[in-house]
Amino acid sequence: MSSKIQAIRGMNDLLPKDSNLWLSVERIISDLFISYGFKNIRTPVVEKTDTFCRAIGEATDIVEKEMYSWKESSGEALSLRPEGTAGCVRAMIEHNLPREGIQKVFYQGAMFRHERPQKGRYRQFHQVGVEIFGADNAKIDAELMAMTHVLWESLGLKNLTLEINTLGSSEARANYKSVLVNYFTQYKNQLDEDSQRRLKTNPLRILDSKNKDMQDLINKAPKLMDSLDSESIQHFDEFKNYLEYLNIPYRINTRLVRGLDYYNRTVFEWTTTDLGAQGTICAGGRYDGLVEKMGGKPTPAVGFAIGLERLMLLLEEQNICISNPSLSIYLMALGDQAQLKSIQIAHDLRSSLPGAILYNDITLGSFKSQFKKADKANADYALILGEEELSNNQVSIKPLKGQGSQKTMSLDEAINYFKDNANA
Ligand code: ATP
Ligand code: MG
Repeated sequence: MSSKIQAIRGMNDLLPKDSNLWLSVERIISDLFISYGFKNIRTPVVEKTDTFCRAIGEATDIVEKEMYSWKESSGEALSLRPEGTAGCVRAMIEHNLPREGIQKVFYQGAMFRHERPQKGRYRQFHQVGVEIFGADNAKIDAELMAMTHVLWESLGLKNLTLEINTLGSSEARANYKSVLVNYFTQYKNQLDEDSQRRLKTNPLRILDSKNKDMQDLINKAPKLMDSLDSESIQHFDEFKNYLEYLNIPYRINTRLVRGLDYYNRTVFEWTTTDLGAQGTICAGGRYDGLVEKMGGKPTPAVGFAIGLERLMLLLEEQNICISNPSLSIYLMALGDQAQLKSIQIAHDLRSSLPGAILYNDITLGSFKSQFKKADKANADYALILGEEELSNNQVSIKPLKGQGSQKTMSLDEAINYFKDNANA
């Protein structure tokens, strides 16, 4: 017996009833990023597995257990991208772009991680992210915070908290790692299995553990803040100064180490308590060493990614309605001649009323049934082309919402009528 055809667990359809919201939000985001001087970049969904391993780090959740990887018949190991930064860095190096000056790019697309699907956590999900290559000052880190802050405001989102931390230089991190290893080794029997493993592979990640039994131990652990190098302290102070000047509230979270290996100095997350455990909407930070580590010229970099599914869930949770109320017209015709002419009229209307939605009837039913279709499409107006209208070179307009009566006029007059009523 053949099994039912269905989508893969954790990979969702976006259905027509929901896609307008996605399109609107994606448009708001890309318009905003473009206004801050970012340009779009599109990299392949598949890269060499090695590109992700080198960029993200071997001892991370993503590389250890979340990647969709396979071997080509040639033996080459490939993976679906689990995040967007590795591909951007690879493209920057391959096309030598940072040599041309500071690069400000944004991307949007599907990412793939083999995780346990739950609310706000999927196996195919979508991120919008930005990366800046070639600038190491704290002003640019702050401008990213200003831009995201403006984004939440323009979407009408509330209850988002900016959490920040600094990871210092790679030397300071290396020193801190050994301090941390010494500390946790003392209490090794209190660590869970995961953390005992991380003690060897990625001790900073122990700080990230959600295990309740270990919280006390983690809270008492030495702080990276106390092992920081002076340049990183200054960078972090400047970053905080900018945030204060911009009036962006923040909370320092010394346990914020981020999942990925490549970060240094500034790290941040925008979090909410409105979505349960999956509360991080946007996350990122500085990764000054990565381009060089991947084989490029030393190039400082900073970026972030927004999880679009979580953003949509939050809009829903906060009852925020993002609609772009566009005028919609259902053009109905009766009779062969009228059907022919309706194609021309639809063309004229679409070119004269950009932004309006024009449904040209394709059911070819009676007027009565076409009116039903118009209601179902939630159209604002019916534009009617019957025998009489056709022979007088006219059309009739009937408002479908509200009380206005049916009027007959020339097509030019009808277009002006719609222009006048477009935003009424
Ligand atoms: P988490 O701790 O929730 O697993 P992460 O640190 O793995 O997050 P990042 O790699 O920083 O996440 O990705 C940036 C953003 O992408 C996250 O803040 C989140 O909004 C979104 N995101 C990450 N993984 C998923 C997923 N599996 N499903 C939906 N969104 C996700
Ligand atoms: Mg994760």
